[in-house]
Amino acid sequence: MSAATPSRLIKGATGDWEVVIGLEVHAQVTSNSKLFSGASTAFGGDPNAHVSLVDAAMPGMLPVINAECVRQAVRTGLGLNASINLKSVFDRKNYFYPDLPQGYQISQYKSPIVGEGAVTLDMPDGDRVTIGIERLHLEQDAGKSLHDQNPTMSLVDLNRSGVALMEIVSKPDLRSAEQAKAYVAKLRSIMRYLGTCDGDMEKGSLRADVNVSVRRAGSTEFGTRCEIKNVNSIRFIGLAAESEARRQIDVLEEGGVIEQETRLFDPDKGETRPMRSKEEAHDYRYFPDPDLLPLELAQSKVDELKAHLPELPDAKKARFINAFGIPPYVAGVLVSEPALSKYFEDMIAEDPTGGRADPKVAANWLINEHLGRLNKENRTIETSPIPAAANGAIATLIFRQVISGKIAKEIYEIAWAANTDLSEPKKIYTYDDVEYVVESRGMKQVTDTGAIETIVDDIVARNPDKVAQAREKPQLVGWFVGQVMKASGGKANPQAVNALLKQKLGL
Ligand code: ADP
Ligand code: MG
Repeated sequence: MSAATPSRLIKGATGDWEVVIGLEVHAQVTSNSKLFSGASTAFGGDPNAHVSLVDAAMPGMLPVINAECVRQAVRTGLGLNASINLKSVFDRKNYFYPDLPQGYQISQYKSPIVGEGAVTLDMPDGDRVTIGIERLHLEQDAGKSLHDQNPTMSLVDLNRSGVALMEIVSKPDLRSAEQAKAYVAKLRSIMRYLGTCDGDMEKGSLRADVNVSVRRAGSTEFGTRCEIKNVNSIRFIGLAAESEARRQIDVLEEGGVIEQETRLFDPDKGETRPMRSKEEAHDYRYFPDPDLLPLELAQSKVDELKAHLPELPDAKKARFINAFGIPPYVAGVLVSEPALSKYFEDMIAEDPTGGRADPKVAANWLINEHLGRLNKENRTIETSPIPAAANGAIATLIFRQVISGKIAKEIYEIAWAANTDLSEPKKIYTYDDVEYVVESRGMKQVTDTGAIETIVDDIVARNPDKVAQAREKPQLVGWFVGQVMKASGGKANPQAVNALLKQKLGL
């Protein structure tokens, strides 16, 4: 963990302050059925449509651990470079709430399935920070109380009751709201590569409790923290941390003290407000669940899961940088989402000519042209009308100087139009489809110097005044290049045009 740099400090009336943040992230495990029952985890559905007798806590029902959820928790732990505990224990966390029919949540307290780990963050300013993971444990989600369905009653929907969650607890290593946001984005990215949590914050698959304290710049002791419960978007996590740090600084600077308490973030007001104080905190009376044996894992099973992990974003990024010479920032964008890095790798896969798109040209084309356009049209890489093979072909043809950058954009437009037009039978999906467009429409770049020379001679002959100026001011050659490119319909090879012009103008 690098020391706090001055840029991260917060200015107060009486000096600089540092914010300290630790996150408890709740991530819904990707699995078809719940942690201790066979009921479906499908999102939506009629209220109480996905509830087994276990989820409804009928007397005498016994929980049975879902092996798939255990496997996913272990894989997540491995993805977080964490130690896996071969023996862990499920505990009952006792409290009363209408959406909790058991009267307790089954969780893991003293012996979680995953121990300490670490996550690396590459910040936009080039800073690299390592955030410690304290633990990851498995627990059940609760149901949901509905207060707006009936004028006189509250109703309860148990569809979520018993769904498996991983609680991932960070050490208090985060030093800014930006880092907190980057940390959650990184966790989400790792879990998406692993396929262990879909990270869909709108559906509540990922939410965080944000613990915040502040201290004077240079101090090595932690201040008293407040915990902001259940923040459900990355942007709100940043705003909650920022506004809470500011509030604590104001209290301390006015001579007050911070009471440890649980707070809520109000997105409309952009501030946190108290929920309950430490005195009101629950005593959960944790004890090992007598219905469940300790969970034991064989080291060989853990090793096997480890051997089959997919390539994760950090490793992929390093490979893109080292093997392809792609700049770190660009590589970071490419690996941020598994669907995006897959698209990129498909772009540079072998084409029918036995060649491959140049990775740097492909990366630039993907990020600068394609992502920009998708964004503008409210689409994502998953709903891209142009498949990777077609964009890969465009990148290859640019690299081989078969087409100019300008023509490449025209081809892209043709492909976009054809592929989004339902009445158009001829789609542009493959390498060959792109090549056919180039051939049939005569879009090939003119590298034949004879043909370019004719155009150059003509333009030079028609502009004697500009020729004289260019001899004084060689930058004016750009004007000639523009004219030649225009006269060639964008098809002249710019390097050939430049060379010929310099020769003809005697530069
Ligand atoms: P609890 O179980 O009572 O919530 P933990 O010790 O498990 O307490 O801490 C919960 C979270 O609070 C962790 O993510 C931890 O990093 C964070 N945390 C602990 N102390 C501080 C602090 N002084 N400032 C900010 N965050 C903190
Ligand atoms: Mg807590």
